[in-house]
Amino acid sequence: MKKAKNIMNINNIARAVVAVAIVLVIIAVALTFSRNFGGAASDDEYRSIVVVASGDTLSKLLTEQGFSNAQVLDIAKVLKSDADITSLRANSDKIEFVRADENAPVSKVVIIPSPWKQIEITCNADGQWQCQTIDIKPDTRVVYREGEILDGDSFYLAGGRAGIPDGILAEVYDLLAFEMDFERDVRAGQKFSVLYEENFSNGEKIDNGRILAVQFEALRGNVKMYRFKKADGKTGYYDENGNGAIKSLKRTPINNARVTSSFSNSRKHPVLGYTRAHKGVDFRASTGTPIPAAGAGRVVARGYNNGHGNYVKIRHNASYETLYAHMSRFAKGVVVGTTVKQGQTIGYVGSTGLSTGPHLHYEIIKDGKHVNPMTVKLPAINNLDKKDKERFQEYRKVLDEGVEHLSKHPEWFIQL
Ligand SMILES: [Zn+2]
Repeated sequence: MKKAKNIMNINNIARAVVAVAIVLVIIAVALTFSRNFGGAASDDEYRSIVVVASGDTLSKLLTEQGFSNAQVLDIAKVLKSDADITSLRANSDKIEFVRADENAPVSKVVIIPSPWKQIEITCNADGQWQCQTIDIKPDTRVVYREGEILDGDSFYLAGGRAGIPDGILAEVYDLLAFEMDFERDVRAGQKFSVLYEENFSNGEKIDNGRILAVQFEALRGNVKMYRFKKADGKTGYYDENGNGAIKSLKRTPINNARVTSSFSNSRKHPVLGYTRAHKGVDFRASTGTPIPAAGAGRVVARGYNNGHGNYVKIRHNASYETLYAHMSRFAKGVVVGTTVKQGQTIGYVGSTGLSTGPHLHYEIIKDGKHVNPMTVKLPAINNLDKKDKERFQEYRKVLDEGVEHLSKHPEWFIQL
């Protein structure tokens, strides 16, 4: 069985996917192996595990296990000098005591501060205690989950039903938020899938790893994103054509905000009463909700006018500007000339100017012309160069094959 690896590269996932046909065999062997291994170990030695409770000290726990005062002092000294441990954390640290048999003295103490780290304290032939820190490598498995949006569903509900953990769903949301609007683009019948890592320690799932691939049947077409490591070592997410997942601008600056009025060239104005164009999109949000900059840029206007109320305008590059209106107040330090990062708070939702209630009015201006934030094709800011793109396309095919296999056998996983 392959050892778990922290850093995945194209080669080991390629091998893993080629091996997918024999994954079932590997799983069967792994299960048998771990059962036998566990059994054999407990036949030879007697182990007991104590979870550190509040008020427990190392000396108290060691004394309870039959250590003498001198031994306790020796162990404390070794722990401090070699592992930099002076105290235990209640309800988190575990200590394992190993004996030759139930009545024998403790021959090994293992402090387990996390699933990925152990500190083994043993006594050598001269009666001296020594300690060693051991990093536990996660047993990483790549799993595949797919879901479908039902009537009246949200992406989060459908994802939860598909068994996708919340943290992974939130990452998928952020990753696709540049491509789709989860309020308006999500319809019953749409399917999505995620290929991601799960980390195990001793057969127990501890946490989730990285998302390797994600797919969503959006209204605008099938959106696919893949995690890929470039030749320079940097990792990012890219679509099928090698364009970066992170776009220059966000269609929806405030995550999860509901669209209450969309872009149109003619609409009846709720306050003025007559028909006029709505040059942006309105997002409902409560007063005081932070408004993040949709993209990196420089503040070119900050002020008040009768229509927009308090507003900020950001220039992103030679072509693109964005405008945020009806703010209750501006963020501290955001003035004309301020350089802002994508996601940086520039102001707070309000209802200043011509507005019927708290909301964000958001405009994207391309080459001086207002465009629909929901449909405008936004430029990516982190596309792959020619060489990386070639490698990416090979890698993507391998990942697609993995997805193909796992979609037919959702109970399988790829062992890294
Ligand atoms: Zn508006």
